[in-house]
Amino acid sequence: MSSHKFLTLDDVETSNKRIFLRVDINVPLDPSTHQILDDTRIKAISETLHRLEDAKVVLGSHQSRPGKDDFTNMQPHAEALADCCNQEVLFVEDVIGPHARERIAKVERGQVLVLDNLRFCAEENVDNIPEKLLKTHFVKQLSPLFDLNINDAFATAHRSQPSIVGLTDALPSAAGRLMERELKAVSALLIEPRRPCVYVLGGAKVEDKIPVIENILGGVPAKLFLKATDKKISPDDEKDLAGLQTHITKAKSLWMKYKERIEVPLDLAYGDTRGKRTDRDIDAPLKESALDIGTKTVEKYSKVVAGAGTTVANGPLGVFERDGFDLGTKQVLEAMARSNGYTVIGGGHLVGLASILGIDEQFKHVSTAGGAMLSLLSGQSLPGVDALVRAAERMRNQKPN
Ligand code: ADP
Ligand code: MG
Repeated sequence: MSSHKFLTLDDVETSNKRIFLRVDINVPLDPSTHQILDDTRIKAISETLHRLEDAKVVLGSHQSRPGKDDFTNMQPHAEALADCCNQEVLFVEDVIGPHARERIAKVERGQVLVLDNLRFCAEENVDNIPEKLLKTHFVKQLSPLFDLNINDAFATAHRSQPSIVGLTDALPSAAGRLMERELKAVSALLIEPRRPCVYVLGGAKVEDKIPVIENILGGVPAKLFLKATDKKISPDDEKDLAGLQTHITKAKSLWMKYKERIEVPLDLAYGDTRGKRTDRDIDAPLKESALDIGTKTVEKYSKVVAGAGTTVANGPLGVFERDGFDLGTKQVLEAMARSNGYTVIGGGHLVGLASILGIDEQFKHVSTAGGAMLSLLSGQSLPGVDALVRAAERMRNQKPN
């Protein structure tokens, strides 16, 4: 058994068993054609699929969330899976309804049936306590159809949702290979990391990123800290931060406590009215939103990263999608790739960029997760992993001594 006290694919009999396999193959999709733009997460589950070749596998994942352009069905995912595994891959346009249940019952050994987007079920979009999740329709309809549940969705393990926690509590359950690998690599960061240990935090989703300390900051988190420390920010950035008051307050108190451990930009790059990159010191912002860290900041951050024993990066340092504003993210990523320290990157956007740059293999670990990795690093336990531990305890208690 692994050090995480949950069962793995080494501990369970899978041959000819009916298995629900939860994965996270939520991938970047072209908003109009729904073509898959990056298949890293699909390739990442191939070891688990390979291990389950003689089982009857039903695979479930979500894609994006309601209201977004890329909230689609799982047909493209099923097609991509067929290319990277040896099993016959089938797809059903339903999740828990009679049509899906009928198809699940007919899955044969060596087949993989892909269910439709799990978030088409309203219950999959809300976090809840384990007791409530056990009583969801999702769990009640699906759990009787399976012998075993395998959770390989590390990137969703920070969610307390029916397919992550509910099914794990309802069925004999074990972790998949990707879950194991990710937990091992990310947990290594918490157990005596080589120091100095640096976190590079950028991107957009502030709520995930503020609890992690010892940072260098870019993206929206940097703007938040500049605002929290009473630096002058551009009128457009003021507008963007308007809804983030509670985070600004938190950033203020983190700054008071850990000032010497937090690096904020010296300069930022703005798109002027014609969209051209213009670098300005932070006390002289333009009117527009800052779209990248400035060149002085790039230099400073690259030095910090080069001297670090451990570097973890999550989220791009600028709006890298726009011409000229990928500079900060690119150069800091390259400095990381060159460093001799233990380097980990995570977050869909950042990892996607690293793979476009062709430097993804130069990091010690590339995580398929963003938020789950940060949750773990900020000291929180992952509901999906907690449920796997409970499942192992149940199975241990059932076995005669
Ligand atoms: P990841 O997927 O790597 O975890 P996020 O999803 O949190 O990162 O954020 C990615 C998005 O953040 C990108 O679309 C990028 O354009 C945006 N972003 C980065 N820097 C800025 C910035 N300075 N202002 C606004 N958006 C930014
Ligand atoms: Mg993202």
